[in-house]
Amino acid sequence: MISATGRRPAAAAPTLVSPSDPQAQTLGYVPVSSQADATKYKNHAASQNCSNCALYAGKAGEASGPCPLFAGRLVSAKGWCSAWAKKA
Ligand code: SF4
Repeated sequence: MISATGRRPAAAAPTLVSPSDPQAQTLGYVPVSSQADATKYKNHAASQNCSNCALYAGKAGEASGPCPLFAGRLVSAKGWCSAWAKKA
């Protein structure tokens, strides 16, 4: 059951981060990199996405994976946020 705060019980499977989530709004997260706000985020480049971000913890080839900035949830491999950093 989902509580009034919208949080699921800890045992529930991780859900994808929604772009309307407050943390996503703060970071400018979008599930598809090309949807990033180019006016607001001038350093955004089309080649940047979660799967080539240093913080992304998903497996290669999977559609989504964990990111420490969205603990307990999943970000889209094709997504992007303003904390993007080049993977070494
Ligand atoms: Fe994606 Fe990196 Fe932002 Fe996490 S920090 S949401 S992996 S771009």
